[in-house]
Amino acid sequence: MDIERGILFVLSGPSGVGKGTVCKALRAQKLDIQYSVSATTRTPRAGEVHGVDYFFKTKEEFQHMIENNELLEWAEYVGNFYGTPIEYVNQTLDEGRDVILEIEVQGALQVRKTFPEGVFIFLTPPSLEELRSRIVGRGTETEDLINNRMTVAREEIEMMQHYDYSVVNDEISSACSRIQSIITSEHCKVDRV
Ligand code: 5GP
Repeated sequence: MDIERGILFVLSGPSGVGKGTVCKALRAQKLDIQYSVSATTRTPRAGEVHGVDYFFKTKEEFQHMIENNELLEWAEYVGNFYGTPIEYVNQTLDEGRDVILEIEVQGALQVRKTFPEGVFIFLTPPSLEELRSRIVGRGTETEDLINNRMTVAREEIEMMQHYDYSVVNDEISSACSRIQSIITSEHCKVDRV
């Protein structure tokens, strides 16, 4: 009997909304889901590990990945490139395991075209003021970068209409349990079995 393909979940939303933190909290719950590691040209932040947080690439290496069709999607975001290596995603789904991507909005919209059967979850901030204070609180960005991220965030929030679900990140544990409910519901769908 053929193995049933895993489900691709895409967790997206504006930068600073807490996608990374929510993903970390989901990981800690040891759900039966695999996390894709993205490639990026961004400089590693303190404590980030190559191959765990990201595959850190030069611009040339990243360009090479694009030309060789090694990326499922990619986007330029606030001056850096980010992309999802396709091989891991396809291989894992073929093995019948679910995959979750934590990516920004332009990339998610590209995945929507190539993986229309994916499940797209938009994480929203309780408010734009709250989003700004989260980015400022992270302490890793200059004032100019913060303003850039806020401009992008406002445009991104308008893209919510292209998603299947929206989850407010008011509190990490509540957001996580909503996402878990979505994962469970998707597995219970009649047309998936
Ligand atoms: P950061 O620099 O804060 O780690 O990430 C910046 C933004 O890039 C976040 O919104 C994050 O979700 C997004 N991102 C991370 N990996 C990928 C990826 O593979 N593709 C796309 N399109 N965005 C990504």
